[in-house]
Amino acid sequence: MTKVYNFSAGPAVLPKEVIKKAQDELTSFKGSQMSVMEISHRSSLYTEMFQKAEEDLRYLMEIPDDYDILFQQGGATLQFTTVPLNLANNYRRIGYIDTGHWSQRAYQEAELLHKFDVDVVASSKDSNYTELVHQVELENKNYDYVHLTTNNTIEGTMYRDLPSGLAGQTIVADMSSNILGQKYNVDDFGLIYAGAQKNIGIAGLTVVIVKRDLIGKVSNLPSMLDYKKQADKQSALNTPPVFAIYMAGLVFEWLKEQDGVAAMQALNEEKSQLLYEYLDNSTLFSSPVKREDRSLTNIPFVTGNKQLDEKFIAEATSAGLLNLKGHRLVGGMRASLYNAFELEGVKALVDFMKEFELKNKGE
Ligand SMILES: *Cc1c(COP(=O)(O)O)cnc(C)c1O
Repeated sequence: MTKVYNFSAGPAVLPKEVIKKAQDELTSFKGSQMSVMEISHRSSLYTEMFQKAEEDLRYLMEIPDDYDILFQQGGATLQFTTVPLNLANNYRRIGYIDTGHWSQRAYQEAELLHKFDVDVVASSKDSNYTELVHQVELENKNYDYVHLTTNNTIEGTMYRDLPSGLAGQTIVADMSSNILGQKYNVDDFGLIYAGAQKNIGIAGLTVVIVKRDLIGKVSNLPSMLDYKKQADKQSALNTPPVFAIYMAGLVFEWLKEQDGVAAMQALNEEKSQLLYEYLDNSTLFSSPVKREDRSLTNIPFVTGNKQLDEKFIAEATSAGLLNLKGHRLVGGMRASLYNAFELEGVKALVDFMKEFELKNKGE
């Protein structure tokens, strides 16, 4: 059988060791003769598992004690609504940095609430989102917070450093596609959120990391959308997604065994460099993204010829290089190289691309 490499942008590849561990414990979690999917979320089996997952995440991201960690449902998309409801309570004005599809989705959802002033304070639309904005002018308006997307999953850009012009602002970040893959200082943010199915675990869980003094300021929120109520009940206001939290916990343990986020970031640099270097030297393939803004985890590339792109994707699929089709909004190809994606998979891709390039020169 051909060895398969999964380049999917999400749901994405998980560490093999994690899948194996889940399999080993599937029929009897911690000797209970019940699977983790069958246990009560009020049992000590659950609370111990939950607490360890939270503790490990706090350790991995060096999350200070004055931040709460919430394990929510509804995906990153529900946070586009929940964050404004909880945090835009003073000026009722939010600034959005527009760097692509997901940041647009974030402010569109905030607009649907018809409660807040939603300002796009900076945008890289003019470059077709092939680069980021690094300077923001807030023009003396008061914002409850400024929202940005640290890694643009579809366009393939990533903030290594935060934009300038945000001193004194509360920054909220959608980190769905590079949380735990690139080191950030949690202290720089008021709130961080991420859907789990890219770099944490499986769909069904969304991690929210929030500075405690920002929450509990709005009354009469629907309970499930109220961060304070969720924090007070350790995210078990109702039945939590036990299996998704369990899987995230296994990934956090695995990350600790890999020496944590800095080691992952170094490996992600190595993996992505291998592909970028090839793309920059190829006469067939190229990367549309400005060098200094390139993502470590999502790498779009094109041949410049639609038919040839399709041919490449079909042949790559037959060779076991799966899910390389670019997002429907941008076309071309995209390789997602999250933490669990192995270096040898990138080598296999580059080798395959070299061969394809030789065979299709002059097309
Ligand atoms: C995938 C993604 C989302 C949407 O995540 P869901 O969990 O499916 O709602 C939002 N933001 C970014 C940056 C993403 O990559």
